[in-house]
Amino acid sequence: MLRDSDTIFALSSGAGKAGIAVIRVSGPGAAKALQLLTGKPLPPERRAALCALSDAQGELIDRALVLWFPGPRSETGEDVAEFHVHGGRAVVAAVFEALSRQDRTRLAEAGEFARRAFQNGKLDLTAVEGLADLVDAETAVQRRLALRQMDGALAHLYEGWRARLLRASALIEAHIDFSEDGVGDSVIAESLSQLSQLAQDLRTHLTEGRRGEAVRDGIEVVILGAPNVGKSSLINALSRRDTAIVTPIPGTTRDVIEVRLDLDGWPVLLADTAGLRESDDPIEKEGIRRAQARAVRAMLKLVVFDATALPALDPASRRLLDDRSLALFNKTDLSGNAPLEVDGAPALSVSALCEIGLSEVRSWLSTRLAGCVGALDAPVFTRERHRQALEGCLQAVEACAAGESPELLAENCRHAAFALGRITGSIGVEDLLDVIFKDFCIGK
Ligand code: GDP
Repeated sequence: MLRDSDTIFALSSGAGKAGIAVIRVSGPGAAKALQLLTGKPLPPERRAALCALSDAQGELIDRALVLWFPGPRSETGEDVAEFHVHGGRAVVAAVFEALSRQDRTRLAEAGEFARRAFQNGKLDLTAVEGLADLVDAETAVQRRLALRQMDGALAHLYEGWRARLLRASALIEAHIDFSEDGVGDSVIAESLSQLSQLAQDLRTHLTEGRRGEAVRDGIEVVILGAPNVGKSSLINALSRRDTAIVTPIPGTTRDVIEVRLDLDGWPVLLADTAGLRESDDPIEKEGIRRAQARAVRAMLKLVVFDATALPALDPASRRLLDDRSLALFNKTDLSGNAPLEVDGAPALSVSALCEIGLSEVRSWLSTRLAGCVGALDAPVFTRERHRQALEGCLQAVEACAAGESPELLAENCRHAAFALGRITGSIGVEDLLDVIFKDFCIGK
């Protein structure tokens, strides 16, 4: 049976051959593990020491840097030892073998180091999630967002709001208990005014959060247009990878094809969609339905027209143009000049085949993304779980304004505070933990 009191170990650096591999050990047996492998007394705290590591038979495994972090001043809050060995599979296997010989010492489960850090009060849940996002971050903007969350930006904001709510509920309760002793209605009035300010802050935060979710999950940009205008060629050219099927037969892209791009640090989820046209084929019709659904959802749209068909413009594509769109006249290697705008939307002349105008497309996207997502100066939340709890909190705060009895007012404040506490994990989160930590890899 797995126990929290077990000593755990794992490879914390990437799997496979590498210059260095970092093996972390956490738990009550960490000190003994260090002594056993090095055959020496513990090295000085938090200072790297070069040691020979040997197995139970006394055979040399490797020469390694070791580090000793006695709890609670460690990543997990427990005693932690680190072995920085040479990153060969046999070296790591031999250290694992030697470690597992110790009593109550086993390989860590996915996310178990972070879970122990949470349980020992080293990280709140939003910091844990920030850590997971930092490991997964693929672009600079994602890295910045994750780092800020890991450093406690969200926790700080929510704990501040929670303290305001708890203070309001305490004041109201005082009013209930002592109302006959002259604690006046001004207490209620003051609390209500504070709560209405908080409701406003929550609403703003909820609107801004969409941007955080978009950065974490990838910002949706969709390529739309009639069949055969060069949508698939364009996604390939923009991503410089062969991700979409390019053929001269109209109607071959029937589902949405996605590719992740790092566009000046912005994480973009670029989607190629089925060509828009009248069709009786049920599969193609479904593809077109999905394309239109994407068009509604996406933050930005690239609407592609065939420059060789000018002056004719596909009416279905034209209807998709709005202030989130850039019109692209493709195949300009075959035709002359195209207009600079269509129905108020800016337009660029490109050739997917000859890679003309693509850097202008990238730069339009990057500028617009910066405009849509903004500087992300204020802390923004990043997960559906946060959104749900914040909505629950807002509902309870709004219920306060309904002007019911002071008892109900205090009760709603507590509900709202509870919802915030669940985000940071300061209360009532046992049911959430498995879901949150399962996303981690082993060794984190
Ligand atoms: P989709 O149906 O809109 O995805 O279009 P495809 O990307 O499959 O392209 C349709 C046809 O147009 C293919 O034969 C491509 O090689 C051709 N094509 C795409 N882009 C260009 C371009 O910029 N110039 C020229 N000359 N042909 C292109």
